[in-house]
Amino acid sequence: MPDSIRLLPDSIANQIAAGEVVQRPSSVVKELLENALDAGADDVSITFRDGGQTLIEVSDNGRGMSDVDARMAWERHATSKIEKAEDLFHLNTFGFRGEALASIAAVAQVQMRTKREQDDVGTTIIIEASEVKSQEPSASNRGTMISVKNLFYNIPARRKFLKSVSVETKHIVEEFEKIALANPDVKMALYNGDKEVYNFNKGTLRQRVEQVLPKTRSGEYVEIEENTDIIGTHGFIGSPERSRRTRGDQYFYVNGRYIRSPYFMHAVSNAYEGLIEKDHYPSFVLFLETDPEKIDVNVHPMKTEIKFEEGTAIYSIIKAVVKRGLGSYHQTPDLEDSLLHRKLSETGIPTIKLPESPRIKVDKGFNPFGGGEKKRVPTEWEKLYEPFREDENQPQPDLEPDIFSPGTFSADPTKFDCIAINRQFFAATAGGELYVVNVKRARERVFYDQYKAMREDQRIGSQQLLFPRTVEFSASDFQILESALDDINAMGFDIRHFGKNTVIINGTPGDLPKGDERQMLEQILIDFKDNSQELKLEKRESLMRSLARNASLKKEESLSSTEMNELMSALLNSNEPGITPGGKSVMAKFQGEDLIALLRN
Ligand code: ADP
Ligand code: MG
Repeated sequence: MPDSIRLLPDSIANQIAAGEVVQRPSSVVKELLENALDAGADDVSITFRDGGQTLIEVSDNGRGMSDVDARMAWERHATSKIEKAEDLFHLNTFGFRGEALASIAAVAQVQMRTKREQDDVGTTIIIEASEVKSQEPSASNRGTMISVKNLFYNIPARRKFLKSVSVETKHIVEEFEKIALANPDVKMALYNGDKEVYNFNKGTLRQRVEQVLPKTRSGEYVEIEENTDIIGTHGFIGSPERSRRTRGDQYFYVNGRYIRSPYFMHAVSNAYEGLIEKDHYPSFVLFLETDPEKIDVNVHPMKTEIKFEEGTAIYSIIKAVVKRGLGSYHQTPDLEDSLLHRKLSETGIPTIKLPESPRIKVDKGFNPFGGGEKKRVPTEWEKLYEPFREDENQPQPDLEPDIFSPGTFSADPTKFDCIAINRQFFAATAGGELYVVNVKRARERVFYDQYKAMREDQRIGSQQLLFPRTVEFSASDFQILESALDDINAMGFDIRHFGKNTVIINGTPGDLPKGDERQMLEQILIDFKDNSQELKLEKRESLMRSLARNASLKKEESLSSTEMNELMSALLNSNEPGITPGGKSVMAKFQGEDLIALLRN
């Protein structure tokens, strides 16, 4: 038998590497942006189309490449950033593997134009699926422009794996935001086709933070800074009111690199204990600076994870610094300092030496925590959830009733005897059967059915608001909202564009609880994101579910017996009375035999 092992051709090896490096269009954005920053650019502009699938173009004013380098850059393991193994331990660039460009070129059609300061002419190179098609001299200014077209055009399996344009767009915007937050001294712009998403001038970190993080949220940011022997930390922490039930606005960086570190993020959350609700996440932008020798960025191929030598000490420092930042508005500096010292000494780590006078910058001019009030008061909207939140955790009854399923609804609706058990449940009997009904879920089912029927009928009415509200979103949320706006309006909303990343709500569907339309829209967006990303539901469907859920949250006292009867008859008309659109049981049915079996002994 002949030998069968052979070396893979470069184009295939690169495609395989691309599987790791280029997961989706936003990975290309990340790699190209990081290269631009590594090249010393202070002005970077990105344009993408169709969620990055057809085009991603990044131009920078960095140092550019010679025509030989312009060719070399696309080879695998080609890098100017490390020469010898030791260099791996002193990294001060984002890149070092020399894999990104080779991987990108393996799965797309790429064009690069680049020029160094000292060269009279630049060079333009075209590469498709790892194959150099042409390289020619070309005129340009100092810097580099790379355009990546038709990502995964030669790998249908990967292309199919891409999510919708709006989801990929959101990833790109988020990637941009992560990098923009860490580089306030770089002018950075992002365009979705011809539309400007962001255009940031150079500025301070505070300005960048204020530009990137959603302005709609109440509460402010406090600047923190602390330098110890182990690490330096600085950044902004959000006041407790800015906390959210989703982990959205948490940005954590080590030596300028965005890092996912559940451990250190926990240190921050821990510092907020008692200030925010249990299931909420604080919002922050936090930078750790440390000797590159102390970390190992090699742990994860995408370089968003990191290993620290002194993890537990750093955890304590982060927690103490954040705590102090949170307290710095209503406690005297002396007390604060002693608290911090005590906190740190409690950790039993002798190596931490705090500066004599801790350098916490407090901008007394702006009041971050709304007059120093610390306890977060739930808004009306949140109170609505409360009775139902408990409901989700309620232990299931200790018996096995016939969980209601379509077609088993045998009782005559006109003859229900209903009795409220509490605000969450009521019991209904008819024809020798007993139903125990979850009020909120029953409503959710009924509203959903109504929306569906109305949609088919095209008669969803909108109720105009007396005082239209404007709501500004983060750029990434706005992208999603925009992509769903027609569908949202078709459901009875009247929402229009109102400037950049901003909409005005003129009307809402009649059924929805009135009050905080802004929070409602945010909640609908959160549901919508979950529904469409995780469950991959069709847009309308995920909106109907979200609206039904929101409508069902209307706060009320126990239902009257007429209302309970109406709810029962509405359920009876449903094709699926037994489950919510999301598949949870609406009610349990007990028949005569069930009761006999239950009470036999
Ligand atoms: P790495 O960043 O890990 O070195 P890449 O494949 O991303 O690997 O890039 C390869 C090389 O191409 C870099 O080391 C750098 O020398 C050069 N390069 C890439 N992008 C740029 C750019 N925008 N400006 C100047 N040089 C660049
Ligand atoms: Mg790189």
